[in-house]
Amino acid sequence: MFATLSDRLADTFKNLRGKGRLSEADIDATAREIRIALLEADVALPVVKDFVAAVKQRAREEDVSGALNPAQQVIKIVHDELVTILGGETRRMRFAKQGPTVVMLAGLQGAGKTTLAAKMALWLKEQGRSPLLVACDLQRPNAVNQLQVNGERAGVKVFAPEPGNGVGDPVAVARASVEEAKRTLHDVVIVDTAGRLGVDAELMQQAADIRDAVSPDEVLFVVDAMIGQDAVGTAQAFLDGVGYDGVVLTKLDGDARGGAALSIRQVTGRPVMFASAGEKLSDFDVFHPDRMASRILD
Ligand code: GDP
Repeated sequence: MFATLSDRLADTFKNLRGKGRLSEADIDATAREIRIALLEADVALPVVKDFVAAVKQRAREEDVSGALNPAQQVIKIVHDELVTILGGETRRMRFAKQGPTVVMLAGLQGAGKTTLAAKMALWLKEQGRSPLLVACDLQRPNAVNQLQVNGERAGVKVFAPEPGNGVGDPVAVARASVEEAKRTLHDVVIVDTAGRLGVDAELMQQAADIRDAVSPDEVLFVVDAMIGQDAVGTAQAFLDGVGYDGVVLTKLDGDARGGAALSIRQVTGRPVMFASAGEKLSDFDVFHPDRMASRILD
């Protein structure tokens, strides 16, 4: 995902490596190159501006020009600032102190919610928890079936509307699923909601109604990192329309430029909590800002 950005930054740092001392002009030139690299990677402009300003300020404060190994020090500053825009600390999932933890997934159609629900369920199962997958995407004809297939692959039970019993009403299904989880002693409920191809008011209202019905411990916005700049606008629309606690980035295995991943935390103020990088159920992990920064600078 970050191949181009990584290459660009590597070239920038290579130019610094030969230098024993850095002039003010060297620092300015480096800042300019970092700016271009980030813009080419589709990072949102305000994020790029803040990032470059922070790097320059620290380079001055830490007197990089006189450092023993200035290139190394600049790389460290860029690393630290990448960690910062990616959210700093790893944000781990919150579990309810009592009763089942409710996790609700929201996002556009095709973002990877249904796949992700199963991945997360497997991940939870491997930690000794007992998740219940809930099919509240009653919009897309095949979504319930897809969740059932994925649930089976993950070895996780799926709660889906019985024909004639609340079919078409995702709010009722969500509410019933929490009762079912209590009765059957499942400790995490993962609610997969409907998405549309674009943001629309009805979709937002439905997600907000589900949220109000089940008071999730975590509402997660799932976004396809390959949609580039659009991801940021969509993230903002869901923040205004539904609200969420954290972000899940999917399709990090793609060859898009990665700017969305770098922008979303700063723009929304919500941490990226999980990342998915492939279609297999095991292609899922907690998002670690420091590891991602190191990968970009590798
Ligand atoms: P939903 O509409 O949000 O529920 O999205 P789906 O879960 O149906 O996913 C849409 C498509 O993206 C499917 O073909 C998935 O296999 C694929 N997909 C989901 N996550 C990833 C990922 O991390 N990487 C790749 N390459 N494909 C993914």
